[in-house]
Amino acid sequence: MPNDLVIVEVTDDHLDIMKSKNMKMLEEDGTLCNLYQRKTSGTRCSCWDERRQQADRSCITCYGTGWVGGYDKVEDILFRFPMTVREIIWTEHGLNLEQIPRVWTITDETIKIRDFIHRQSDEERFVLTSVEEALWRNKLMHIQAEVKIVDLNDILKQVP
Ligand SMILES: [Zn+2]
Repeated sequence: MPNDLVIVEVTDDHLDIMKSKNMKMLEEDGTLCNLYQRKTSGTRCSCWDERRQQADRSCITCYGTGWVGGYDKVEDILFRFPMTVREIIWTEHGLNLEQIPRVWTITDETIKIRDFIHRQSDEERFVLTSVEEALWRNKLMHIQAEVKIVDLNDILKQVP
């Protein structure tokens, strides 16, 4: 049993095989999450500042998105949390090794940067800081994202 995403050079015939292998891995070893899709339309929140094009980041009506409700919730999407990429980052204290967690999933739902996911097992929430769709010959294979854990005092912790 492979423990991570299967990515190989493939012909058309192999695309479905690869996708179903990854799907199987996801079903066996994925983590149930709720996806929160950040609203980009709807009813403008009363906190919205038209001149600055900004919402109040502590607003509990729109959670800083500027749209009433803030997010659309999609329940029960499986994500894999296996990938930690180490990056060497230069700081004022010298070289630092930073761990950037990555997740991946296979879904028809739209996933964008600044959406967040809620891990059901431990209630942790993760904001997606980059999202990459893996396409082979215009077919969506899987979606990978870099994530950042949501702090306890973050307004995103309050989105129902
Ligand atoms: Zn608001």
